[in-house]
Amino acid sequence: MADCDLCGVARPTLCPVKVNDRSVFSAYPTGTWRGINEECLERCHEANLNRVPVNGKKCDLCGMKNVQLFQVKVQVPTFEEPYHREVDKAICERCFEACEETIRRREAEKEEGHH
Ligand SMILES: [Zn+2]
Ligand SMILES: [Zn+2]
Repeated sequence: MADCDLCGVARPTLCPVKVNDRSVFSAYPTGTWRGINEECLERCHEANLNRVPVNGKKCDLCGMKNVQLFQVKVQVPTFEEPYHREVDKAICERCFEACEETIRRREAEKEEGHH
């Protein structure tokens, strides 16, 4: 099991999203991977289509500072009714692109599965 980097939900498999994390740039100049679950990937995709700018200190996925951030609402599970709450996350444009890439890659893999 692995925890989603956005909402913290543990899943057997996560969708890998490639980000540029400046804090580890010297070790990983070509980017590092974050894992988010399908729900969050879908929510990032929706947020990318309907961009709502937010003021945040840094991107919740890659940690990039001083960039324009956009709101992504993710559902975090709780132990009380209604068993989840919406939490606002701030994601940068590059991470949106990385999410789109992950979606495209997953769709291509699905296509291959049909042949
Ligand atoms: Zn998640
Ligand atoms: Zn980012």
